[in-house]
Amino acid sequence: MPTIQLLPSQLIDQIAAGEVVERPASVVKELLENALDAGGSKIEVRLEQGGVKLIRISDDGRGIAPDELPLALARHATSKITSLVDLENVATLGFRGEALASITSVARLAITSRARDSSHASRLEGGMATAEPAALASGTVVEVADLYYNTPARRKFLKTDATEYGHCEDVFERIALSQPQITFTLTHNAKITRHYGAQSPVRRIADVLGDDFAESARVVDQAAGPLSLTGLIGDPALARGSRDAQYFFVNGRFVRDKVLQHALRAAYADVLHHDKFPAYALFLTLPPQQVDVNVHPAKVEVRFREQQGVHQFVLHAARRALGGSAAETPVHGASPAIDPVRGTVGFGPAARPAAWQGSFSGSYGNDGSVGVAQTQAAYYAMFERSTEPVGSSSSVAAASPTATARLTDTDAPLGYALAQLHGIYILAQNAAGLVLVDMHAAHERIVYEGLKAAVDSKRISTQSLLIPVAFTADALEVAAAEEHAQTLAELGFEVVPLSPTSLAVRAVPALLADADARALASDVLRDLREFSATRVLTEKRDELLSTMACHAAVRANRKLTLPEMDALLRQMEVTERSGQCNHGRPTWFQMTMRDLDKLFMRGE
Ligand code: ADP
Ligand code: MG
Repeated sequence: MPTIQLLPSQLIDQIAAGEVVERPASVVKELLENALDAGGSKIEVRLEQGGVKLIRISDDGRGIAPDELPLALARHATSKITSLVDLENVATLGFRGEALASITSVARLAITSRARDSSHASRLEGGMATAEPAALASGTVVEVADLYYNTPARRKFLKTDATEYGHCEDVFERIALSQPQITFTLTHNAKITRHYGAQSPVRRIADVLGDDFAESARVVDQAAGPLSLTGLIGDPALARGSRDAQYFFVNGRFVRDKVLQHALRAAYADVLHHDKFPAYALFLTLPPQQVDVNVHPAKVEVRFREQQGVHQFVLHAARRALGGSAAETPVHGASPAIDPVRGTVGFGPAARPAAWQGSFSGSYGNDGSVGVAQTQAAYYAMFERSTEPVGSSSSVAAASPTATARLTDTDAPLGYALAQLHGIYILAQNAAGLVLVDMHAAHERIVYEGLKAAVDSKRISTQSLLIPVAFTADALEVAAAEEHAQTLAELGFEVVPLSPTSLAVRAVPALLADADARALASDVLRDLREFSATRVLTEKRDELLSTMACHAAVRANRKLTLPEMDALLRQMEVTERSGQCNHGRPTWFQMTMRDLDKLFMRGE
């Protein structure tokens, strides 16, 4: 029997490095974040051989005192938080105190720094116990050489220098976008590849995303309570074939967040063809307590405390900027009132003002928290309630006798379709009254659950395309298709490189046979690139599947026949959790006859 032993600290760090230091770009990200946290105004990044040979980042920030240098490299040592309260209010980009320790365990790291009030600089190399005097005018220089020199298995996962450089450049641009008042320079193999002087936010966006974008973009500038959203949002006509120009920052941190992406997609839904991706650079700020950034070691994901509230706010702000009126906001954004007496969730008059206000600010509580919280449990309960035998409900009497006869059939708790409203909602009649369904959200959920079941049972069926769909792709997309061929196959895809700059989709999951294969494939490749390979089919699986489901779902404005609508209602009933779409939004509402009566003040 093997004995249980504590791991040596170097090995602990190397294991942790697996999460934080995936490739040179992740080192660049961590070091740039440290430079920003240090409060400087000028930051320079020098790379050699895609960052594999050398990453050198210098800043003119506050620096580190000589006696603290060894601590900076120690695991779980940070100057940024000291307590849980600090963690919940964290305003710095870093706080975990593990980046430098992790990097030190898998590369040769040296740090030279001069604290602002210090008479000289000091230098410390990984492995040394104390710092030695050095020359540096101000700030900090961190050099990371020979990434993975001591972990050859990991080094094998590195791609070509050009690919690794591409990832580093992505990271650099994101960070440069987030801090326009700071001067940034990027050098690769001794050539300057990017330079941004201190400039206005709009100018910086124009420099990173292009003048074409900035000139045609709409300005977003909305605030509601403690939330604000600013930035530029692209003209739908100039949307691109890939998501590469979508930048979203939450409190200065670049994030990829499904709630936010979904809100933007919804804002564009009426004005954009679905295989096009709008470009945008948006900055959301909200109180730090409203967002948990400690969800993932690399912190590209966040969790909002009130995700529905954030979704609605972003959707409204983006829609307004795109010219739509806030009154068009779908009903599903409303917070249904929970009737304390009957314990039911309804969409009665009490809920209506908030629903149609179109403004987010009205729904804040005194404590600054967003008041649109809607528990999942309430939706589930709502779904379950409608499956109760309806005979007990007094509202049945109001329904027409024929409808009632048909509707007491408990096989159809969501009732039968009456009509389609503006191509977006299905109106259906069930025993309790009126059912309103967000067609797109409901279908998305059904496809999503279908994909999940298929992938879980490893029985995803694949549909070969008669004519493979070829498209131009960038080096990173081609690399991702090769790197993740196995994962793609497990998801039901076959995407093969045709040349260094093109890919062909040969097969797609059968559930998505009707989707635009090209847009679908590039979205999935994008997710695969964003998420580390090992996490794709585990923690990231649901996100990936929800990305995929989005492509299959019926779009707004598609005319459905009554039997088609009924079929959708039946599918909803059998689909797990169909009360919510993938993004936590409700997919349908019940308005009981009593709710309607109240609305018209009948019998009062
Ligand atoms: P974290 O950023 O999560 O605190 P790191 O391992 O990235 O953890 O850094 C450890 C500590 O080293 C930081 O808390 C900070 O005090 C110090 N540090 C790192 N880089 C710099 C820098 N460029 N300028 C000033 N201090 C730095
Ligand atoms: Mg850090």
